[in-house]
Amino acid sequence: MNEIDHTLSAPRCPICGKARDEAFRPFCSKRCADIDLNRWLSGVYAIPVKDDEDEDGTRPADNDNNER
Ligand SMILES: [Zn+2]
Repeated sequence: MNEIDHTLSAPRCPICGKARDEAFRPFCSKRCADIDLNRWLSGVYAIPVKDDEDEDGTRPADNDNNER
């Protein structure tokens, strides 16, 4: 839990750690934004996928697997 960093406290690009660009925030460039998108698409973020067909969101509210 050593979140303290001696660098600037400004939010940085979560991909490469550089200072982010307002045009591409929270990333520093479109490239990092694409990298993040690719991570999402490839499931790197480990999106909980249930074997039920709940893509329509019509399932009853027993989504205890959703941590958001
Ligand atoms: Zn970056």
